[in-house]
Amino acid sequence: MHISVIGTGYVGLVTGACFAEFGVNVTCMDTDARRIARLEKGEVPFFEPGITELVAKGIKEDRLHFTTDVAKAVDKALVIFIAVGTPPKSDGSADLSYVEEVGRGIAKNMTGYKVIVTKSTVPVGTGEKLREVIKANQTGRFRFDIVSNPEFLREGSAIEDFMRPNRVVIGADSEQAVAIMKDLYRPLYLLETPIVVTDIPTAEMIKYASNAFLAVKISFINEIATVCEKVGADVQMVSKGMGLDNRIGNKFLHAGPGFGGSCFPKDLAALVQTGERVGYPFQIAGAAAKVNYEQHLRMVEKVKEACGGVKGKTLGVLGLSFKPNTNDMREAPSLTILSELMKEGATIRAYDPASMEESTKLLPGMVPCQDTYDVAEGADGLIIMTEWNQFRNLDFDRLKKSMRQPLLLDLRNTYESDRVVGFGFRHVSVGRPTKN
Ligand code: NAD
Repeated sequence: MHISVIGTGYVGLVTGACFAEFGVNVTCMDTDARRIARLEKGEVPFFEPGITELVAKGIKEDRLHFTTDVAKAVDKALVIFIAVGTPPKSDGSADLSYVEEVGRGIAKNMTGYKVIVTKSTVPVGTGEKLREVIKANQTGRFRFDIVSNPEFLREGSAIEDFMRPNRVVIGADSEQAVAIMKDLYRPLYLLETPIVVTDIPTAEMIKYASNAFLAVKISFINEIATVCEKVGADVQMVSKGMGLDNRIGNKFLHAGPGFGGSCFPKDLAALVQTGERVGYPFQIAGAAAKVNYEQHLRMVEKVKEACGGVKGKTLGVLGLSFKPNTNDMREAPSLTILSELMKEGATIRAYDPASMEESTKLLPGMVPCQDTYDVAEGADGLIIMTEWNQFRNLDFDRLKKSMRQPLLLDLRNTYESDRVVGFGFRHVSVGRPTKN
């Protein structure tokens, strides 16, 4: 089978490379000519474990091709995945202009029956809108079906998530399209991956409901953490005690600086906006977003309080990306927290294993460092902002020698307090008592 994927970002490239690995012929298309030129040479423009190897294999085995020409992407493909961005507009609603542009490009270049799939996260009703856009722009009169196949992969473990998903959602109103989609995902049958077949609006809603629910879980445990701090309880143990209940589950119950990334903030905003559009104020999604923003600011206060004010102080920061194993800085908590601290007069020395290029542009004034120990030089406090594995086993003796004050601001609750205190550090974490 020939397929194409339009948009070669985190989702599109992983989708294309994984389907190529499943033995399908894939053409990946993007309007960004520089990106395509690099990909043709096997250079992946972002950090994601395993993707470079998978792309190289797809190219070598002649199953993965790249182009900037939409006609080439449409021509032979039976299935066309749309994986372009759907960023938030100023009112929070999803900007569908990229999806619609792709729709017009497909319509003008169709050469036969096509299954046109939205893999981008798109609000309920987009499938129908896309159908209208394509019909209005078709030059020939070829049949086509629209499918919603939302993507649930996480950056940092995207390939594993794509190859071993918890479920595949297929929203369609044509049996032929469902059969083609099931055939494409056949390699996953061996793993007995559940396939949820439903109508298009329901599939679109499953994606937003899932992301909003996960975001609510994070904001919920962050609020519990704040109350824990006030009553002297330990949120780690609260999470453990809650998570052992099967009805609750232990995932997404880690207190921290609040979520970021390209999905949760934007998908919450889009869900709130959808609620407004249909006359129902979606209160929980709005509250989760508000709590999250306040959590970022609460971290600023926490740092200020621990340092006795930050004016003239130097703070070392470990990790900047919105989570480990990615260079993605979109909506990263570090952006708000560090900007605020710099505004308050702190000098920020920071290191991230993958996002130094992006973060240096986004955080003007920040001092970029070479590694963990460079960060700690002369610091009045060391902040763990993102829990990369390499920050989980720090050499505290060495850090203590180069820091001005032995203070660890562990915003990801990476360490047990007793261990850190044992090295002579003060340990400030989230939702747990501070220990000296
Ligand atoms: P991204 O910004 O990394 O990539 C989007 C790509 O689309 C860019 O390379 C851009 O050049 C390209 N593009 C834009 N307009 C185009 C056009 N007209 N024709 C061809 N290419 C075009 O985005 P992403 O993070 O991969 O997200 C894509 C979609 O998937 C979004 O809707 C997002 O919400 C959703 N999603 C993202 C994730 C994630 O973890 N990043 C997970 C699940 C779903």
